[in-house]
Amino acid sequence: EPRVIPRDQHPISRKQVSRAALDVLYGLHKAGFEAYLVGGCLRDILCGREPKDFDVSTNATPEQVNRLFKRSRIIGRRFQIVHVRFGREVIEVSTFRAMNREDNPDRDQHHAHEETGMVLRDNTWGSIEEDALRRDFTINALYYNIADFTLHDFVGSLDDIDEQVIHLIGDPETRFREDPVRMLRAARFAAKLGFHIDPATGDPIPDLAELLLQVPSARLFDEVLKLFLSGHARDSYEQLQSLGLFRFLFPETQQALEGEKGQIWEAMLLAAMDNTDKRLADGKPVTPAFIYAVLLWPIIQERMGHYLSSGLPPAQALHKSATRALNTQIKHTAIPRRFSTVMREMWELQLRLDKRAGKRADAMMEHPRFRAAYDFLLLREQAEEIKPGLGDWWTRYQEQDEQGRRQMISELG
Ligand code: ATP
Ligand code: MG
Repeated sequence: EPRVIPRDQHPISRKQVSRAALDVLYGLHKAGFEAYLVGGCLRDILCGREPKDFDVSTNATPEQVNRLFKRSRIIGRRFQIVHVRFGREVIEVSTFRAMNREDNPDRDQHHAHEETGMVLRDNTWGSIEEDALRRDFTINALYYNIADFTLHDFVGSLDDIDEQVIHLIGDPETRFREDPVRMLRAARFAAKLGFHIDPATGDPIPDLAELLLQVPSARLFDEVLKLFLSGHARDSYEQLQSLGLFRFLFPETQQALEGEKGQIWEAMLLAAMDNTDKRLADGKPVTPAFIYAVLLWPIIQERMGHYLSSGLPPAQALHKSATRALNTQIKHTAIPRRFSTVMREMWELQLRLDKRAGKRADAMMEHPRFRAAYDFLLLREQAEEIKPGLGDWWTRYQEQDEQGRRQMISELG
C-alpha cells in the first residue's frame, strides 16, 4: 500500500524532466507498459537541485525496451539494464526487479551460470513494490508515474527528504553486508545533500567498514571518484573519516595521517579537496590523477626517507616509493594506468621544480604536467610540508615577460 500523491499535491513537473527522459517514458507508456521516473532525479528535484541524470523504471523486460527504442543498448552482465541514447544524454531504463538479485555480485554470477535464462528471469523480475524495497535509501526510492503524473512513496521517502535524513531501507546491517558500497553511498549523499545519517543507519557503519576490503577494487575506484569529484570532496572526506570508512579505502594514507606528520598531511588533503571543489564550482576541469596524487603523497614522502638514508639518489628513491605506494593502493582501489602515469609525472616534477637555471625553467613550463605539478607544489607549501618560496617564484615567473624572466633566472645565483 504505497502512498500515492496526486499530481496537484506534489511539486514534480514535466518541465523539470529532460526531453529524452520524457520520450522514453511516453514511448513505454504508449506501448502499454508501466513507466516511472525513479530515484535520484526525483530526490534532486524535491531538494531544489538539477538532476544529474534521469533513471526510468518499467515492467517491460530489457529485450522489450531494446525493441522499442532504436538507439538503445542492453548492458550489464549480472543484471541487464538498457541505455537509451539521445544525443549526449543517456537514459537508464531498468526493469522492476526483486530483492537480493543484483545485490551480491558473486551470488549473481553464480546464478547466471547455474540457471537457465528463463528461470533466472522469473526469479529476477519483481513488482514495483519489490523494486522499491531493494533500493538503498528511502530518499532514493520515489516513483513518478507517467500515466497519471502521480508520485508513489513506498517507504516514507517524502518524509525523509523533508527531514533531510538518510535512512537505509530494511535492516541496516543486512543491507550493508549485502553490498558494503552502500556505506560509501551514505557518506556521499550526506556530503552532497547536506543531510544527516539516521543513527540506525549510521551507527553500524564503523563496525562494518572493513567489509570494504572485499569489494572489487574497480568498483571502489568508481565510488571514490564520485566521492571526490562531485563538488563535495571536503565534506565527503569528513564523512568518510567520521564513519571510519577512509582507512579501508586508503589504509597507508591513514597510517601516515596518524603518524608524526599527520597534521601536515591532513592539511594538504583538505587543501586539495577545497581546491577541487572550487575548480568544479568555477566550471574548471579536474582530474582524478590530481586527487590521487595528493592522497598517496604522504606514503611516498615517508617511504622516501628510508630509501634516501640508505643512499639512493632522490629520483630513484621517489620512483621506488611511488611504485610501492601504487602497488599497495591498487589492491584497494584500482587506479587505471592513464592516471597513475600522470601521478608519477606530477611527483617526479616535484624534484625538478627547483632546478631553474639557464633554459630549464622555460623547458619546465612546456612540460604537459607543469601546471598540475605547480598546483601540487602550492598545496605542499600551503600545508607547510615544505617551506614557502618556490611556489611564489613560479607564480611570479609565469607572470613576467621575456626580459623579466631572464632577470629572475640571473638572480637565482
Ligand atoms: P546520483 O546519480 O546523484 O549519484 P542516484 O541516486 O541517481 O544519485 P545512482 O548510482 O545513479 O544514484 O543509482 C540510481 C538508483 O539506483 C538510486 O537512486 C538507488 O535507488 C538505486 N541504487 C544505486 N546503487 C544502489 C545500491 N548499491 N543498492 C541499492 N540500490 C541502489
Ligand atoms: Mg543517478
